[in-house]
Amino acid sequence: MRFSQTSMKVSSFKRGLKLPTRKHATEGKPVELVPQPKTVVIPINQHFGAPNRSLVKPGDTVKRGQKIAEAINPGLMTVPVHASISGVVKKVEPRLQSNNNDGLCVIIENNETNETAFMPPLDVFACSREEALARLREAGLTGMGGAGFPTHVKLSPPLNKPIDVFIADGAECEPYLTTDEAVITEKPDLLIKGLAIAMKITGVKRSIIGMEDNKQRLIPLLEQEIRLAGLTDSVAIGLCKTRYPQGGEKMLITTLTGREVPSGGLPMDAGCIVQNVGTLVAIAEAFIQGKPLIDRDLTVSGGACKLPKNIRAPIGSMLPDMPKEFMDIDYSRLKKILFGGPMMGTAVSTVMIPIQKNTSGIILMTQEETYIDRESPCIRCGRCLRNCPCHLSPALMNIGLEAGDLDEALRAGLMDCIECGSCTYMCPARIKLVQRFRVGKQRLRARQAAAKKA
Ligand code: SF4
Ligand code: SF4
Repeated sequence: MRFSQTSMKVSSFKRGLKLPTRKHATEGKPVELVPQPKTVVIPINQHFGAPNRSLVKPGDTVKRGQKIAEAINPGLMTVPVHASISGVVKKVEPRLQSNNNDGLCVIIENNETNETAFMPPLDVFACSREEALARLREAGLTGMGGAGFPTHVKLSPPLNKPIDVFIADGAECEPYLTTDEAVITEKPDLLIKGLAIAMKITGVKRSIIGMEDNKQRLIPLLEQEIRLAGLTDSVAIGLCKTRYPQGGEKMLITTLTGREVPSGGLPMDAGCIVQNVGTLVAIAEAFIQGKPLIDRDLTVSGGACKLPKNIRAPIGSMLPDMPKEFMDIDYSRLKKILFGGPMMGTAVSTVMIPIQKNTSGIILMTQEETYIDRESPCIRCGRCLRNCPCHLSPALMNIGLEAGDLDEALRAGLMDCIECGSCTYMCPARIKLVQRFRVGKQRLRARQAAAKKA
């Protein structure tokens, strides 16, 4: 790939799926600001790592951007959580979250003063690396495209893992979702500034913005911003074939650099860091405006959504609390609710669940959009094997898990599974493969943690 000029070559990884994109309802639509919510329900743990404790109690007045939860030892892998509106804390109690578990939440009633408590701006080019990493942490930044991995940890890989390529992930391969496309369209300047900040912190000199080729219209916009930022020698745009799961870190690395992440490894083992475009915008806001991660851009779509759109919501907002003229749900046709996309998202039982830092979309599906079939026995057709982008053996992993043999599943590649759901989608026996793999991985992690403790 040439730098200083966009390569028009369209690359791809092997295998994967050609899915119906179902993005038409929100594609090209602007991001609409959610009207001020009366109440927000903010989970105090929205990240991967050590748990937080609440810093506020009922009756406290808080400002937008004020820290409301943090770990006892902030030096651990953890990030704080901030108030997304100004108001009065009404309760601190467990509420249902998008992972289908109850978790402690701070419930804030809006006092409509809109008072803010942002940090002062910080110039990344005039501060130390430690100060810059502390800013990422203090802003509560986590990856906005996945499991909520703390950004300051991702941007400080160990010294024995040299990084030479920074990848901005704008592939957005999940059907329905158009949030990343909207972010690139509306905030290309902040995206490039966030990328420059991330490159400065990591010391990486080369960067590639990866997008699927269904977003080619955004290229001139990005090229202009790259030129304005004086980054034509170090930032390129890489076009990838529209193919699921192109946005997965491993797939994007292979497609854009030709490198493979080794089994059991991470992107840094292939000399890369991958960061979602939304997170890069949040990085720019944290430095330029001193703004913590308190708002979330997401797509709300699906056949049971009467007003599908891209929205910007204060974290902790809930769809049913939004005015009907802004967000209208057809409850009579609603059959399935997904937080995230239809392939990797989580099915939940109610819409009364708060939007979190990693909520990329809420999909409200009708009967016609979803299939709920009964499982039948595996017919050894090999479709799951042929379509797994990680070259694993899903059928074998499933046999191991069904027999309660975690080691068998491990040998078949369980921990290399990226939970993309391609095998489940292709399985003619409708076996809930990826759902089992998620549970299997949790059990394996619990077993490893218990062994470590012992
Ligand atoms: S085994 Fe994992 S990585 Fe492979 S297709 Fe299934 S869910 Fe995706
Ligand atoms: S796709 Fe389903 S039926 Fe076919 S081998 Fe895989 S698990 Fe068995």
